[in-house]
Amino acid sequence: MTVKRISFVVPVYNEEENLHEFHKRLGKVMEALPYDYDLIFVDDGSSDSSHLILAELAEKDEHVQVYFLSRNYGHQLALTCGLDNACGDAVITMDGDLQHPPELVPELLKLWEDGFQIVQTVRTATEDASFFKNITSKAYYKIINSMSKVEITPGGSDFRLMDKVAVEAFRHYRERARFIRGLVNTLGFKVATFEFTAPPRFAGHSKYNLRKMLHFALDGITSFSNLPLRWAFYIGIVFGLMSFLVILHVLYVKYVADDAVPGWATMTASVLFLGGIQLVGIGILGEYIGRIFEEVKQRPLYIVGRHLGKR
Ligand code: UDP
Ligand code: MG
Repeated sequence: MTVKRISFVVPVYNEEENLHEFHKRLGKVMEALPYDYDLIFVDDGSSDSSHLILAELAEKDEHVQVYFLSRNYGHQLALTCGLDNACGDAVITMDGDLQHPPELVPELLKLWEDGFQIVQTVRTATEDASFFKNITSKAYYKIINSMSKVEITPGGSDFRLMDKVAVEAFRHYRERARFIRGLVNTLGFKVATFEFTAPPRFAGHSKYNLRKMLHFALDGITSFSNLPLRWAFYIGIVFGLMSFLVILHVLYVKYVADDAVPGWATMTASVLFLGGIQLVGIGILGEYIGRIFEEVKQRPLYIVGRHLGKR
């Protein structure tokens, strides 16, 4: 019987203090298991010494491959590069900061051996997450699930096992703005969920700043729901009807009550209000059109500058 091969995909952005530890801990876990494996690091344009450490790991460990992206493309596209190039019988994606503990890998593999084609992990808690991140994350998943037809698992993380058939299916999704945890839920297949508590980062700080987080959140909503566009339409209708009432009032003041000048307050208020609502509508349109523009250009999702290791 041939030994099954597991590919690990690990996006890395300035994780110099974590890489040796990650490599050591994952190696130890895999040594004890009856699988062949490759460890695919995707360097997402790191500017610290991560690239040196990755080159050194590829040099001394034949399991290691590194794809160096030509610049920083973001977590989701770095993951995509790894998934595009992973050829194992199962692929496990995990962060390089040890918040996805390598020691849980055997449990994911067991579920895979039991016949599940996707094992989606769910964070019951993140030990170092701020109060702000916890609250906004909870609220976000409520909002997105009330809007999207696809169920998006609250607390879902990108620590995930996918059988090669699921990976093959996933590769057909070529959109740029990607919210991988939502896309994976549209694939189908037999899915198991696995709960874990994410420990604090081993070292360093989160590479998601508020801007990246916000962008990611909007990508999630706009890729899975057209509802905001519809809101703009509904709000437009409601205010259209209301302004009709205002027009009736204006006609009344002019022709029946015959004191037209004091209407100034009504005028100003309604102009400001309608203007505001229109801007919101245009903003929502703009958000979607901007994304259409990004997608129709069909630019490559990422560019690999250099590859190290045996494919
Ligand atoms: N990451 C990446 N590109 C980025 C930001 C992050 O490849 O632009 C990697 C990062 O190195 C880590 C993983 O994605 O391995 C998750 O990032 P992070 O730990 O900063 O996110 P958090 O756990 O705080 O949500
Ligand atoms: Mg992290």
